[in-house]
Order: sequence, then C-alpha cells, then structure tokens
Amino acid sequence: MAPQHPSDLESPARVSPDVARALEALLDFHIGGGADGLLADEPVDAFALSARQSAQRSAGNVPASAPPKPSTRIDAPPAGPLEPTHHAVVPGDAATAAARDIARGAESLDDLRSSLERFEGCNLRLTAKSLVFADGAPDARVMFIGEAPGREEDRHGLPFVGRSGQLLDRMLAAIGLARSEVYITNVVPWRPPGNRTPSPQETEICKPFVLRQVELVAPEVVVFLGGASAKALTGTTQGILKLRGRWLDAPIADRPIRAIATLHPAYLLRSPAQKRLAWRDCLTIKAALDDEPAGGRR
Ligand code: URA
Repeated sequence: MAPQHPSDLESPARVSPDVARALEALLDFHIGGGADGLLADEPVDAFALSARQSAQRSAGNVPASAPPKPSTRIDAPPAGPLEPTHHAVVPGDAATAAARDIARGAESLDDLRSSLERFEGCNLRLTAKSLVFADGAPDARVMFIGEAPGREEDRHGLPFVGRSGQLLDRMLAAIGLARSEVYITNVVPWRPPGNRTPSPQETEICKPFVLRQVELVAPEVVVFLGGASAKALTGTTQGILKLRGRWLDAPIADRPIRAIATLHPAYLLRSPAQKRLAWRDCLTIKAALDDEPAGGRR
C-alpha cells in the first residue's frame, strides 16, 4: 500500500481506495472482536457522565433535544461530587410496545421492511452495517428462522449466507428445496456486535417484527434453526436436543402453524456427528410438505 500524506487523510474524498479498504478491514477487525464504541485518549467514567447529564436534564439545565456534539471524543466530566440520580426509565418496554404497534400496522413485507429500516428502538442497529431482513420467496410454504445475523450476513444484508448458510443450502437441497423457494429470516435482524448472543431485551424488542413476518408469509411450516429462535417465539424452555424433530403445539403469531425445531447449522459445523439428527428432521419437514401439496392450504 502506498504511504499516504497525513493531509490526504483529512478529507474522506481524498483517501485512496487502498487506504479506505485497509481502514475498513481494520474497523471490521475491531468490531468483529466485540468493540462497539470509541475510546477517548483520557479515561472517562461514562456512568458518572450519564448520571450527571440526566441530573442536569431533570433540573432543566440541558434541553432534552440539545444537539449531540459533532466530535467523537467523550468529554471528561467536570470535577466535583456526583449527585445521586435515579435511572428509573426502562426504554426497552416503550420500544417493545412501539415495535408491536409498528409491526401490526405493516400491510406487506415491503412495508414491514421499511418500518424496520426506520425503527430506532433497538440499539443493535447502531453497530450493525445492514438490516438483515429476509431472503427467499414471500409466499414460501416453509419458513426458516434463525437467531441473529453474523458477520457475513451483516456484510451482505442477507440471512444465512456465511458458512452456516452454505450448510443450510445443502440441507435444503438434500430434500429437494432451493433457497429461492423457501423464506429465511432471523428473530433479530441486526448483527449483535462481536456475534454475542442478543440480550433478552433486544430479542423482545425485535420479536413483533418476526412474528408479523410469519403472519404475512403465512407458511405451512415454520422451522426454528436452533433453540434460541424456538425459545423466543414459542416460549419453550426445553433444550434443543430434547425439542428438535417433533411438531410443536405452541401457536405462532396467534395462528396454528406446524412448527418444528432442528439443530442450528453453526452447531452442526462444530459437531458434524449430529448431522444425522438434522437429516431426520429434514425428512420430517419434507414429509409434511409432501403430505400437503402446494395450493391446498390457503
Ligand atoms: N446464524 C443465524 O442464526 N442467522 C444467520 O443469519 C446466520 C447465522
């Protein structure tokens, strides 16, 4: 890579494509490792800073709508003792209620996707590159639901396109299904930083959107890829090895849809000996689809 004069770095327009790629790769590296914020040169007690700011806001000293500072540096809090503050606001509850209203109001999948693009109630959108909404056919007979996008999915804006996705494609092909004829999505549509597990609150906030997808696609069969999505959408507390391979009773999105859980492809990549169980599940799914020919259900 050619060395760059420091003044060339001041304006993004003057950064060469090589440097831009290298910077992007470096940033990806840190985000992949779990970094989700910028650090200042000096240590900052962010809890103290936020406590002080909310105290000032409650006292009317700082308008709630004060524009954010353009700088990425976090200013050190002014010296002096901290006044106690109460953090009684639980924004997650309001966000979940808003998500329910918005999702319910979406009349089509396109509508739902645009609503999610505008939805600001889930902080995962701040660290993700893309909204990973769904892939496949909007009128699919079978819908696959995973937990949350990973790094490759975030890069491409599509679910299950990394190594797990390639295995999923092979599992589908083994029972005569192409990716283009099924519908694939996740409970959480943004990649959690560093591929961590979505928090229960993030899952609750995102749930109304995936439930609305189930209603709008109206598949004959829902397949949970792994225990996390089954747990989120049916409330089961059973482990995936007990849960998999049998039809579940719980209604999804208030309607009786045949649902089944199978092992997550990422788990199968780590434990290939378990593929025989996933194969049995695939045959169960195929039998259900063969039983009920397309067109006979709506
Ligand atoms: N794992 C998931 O649960 N979803 C994806 O989209 C990719 C990996």
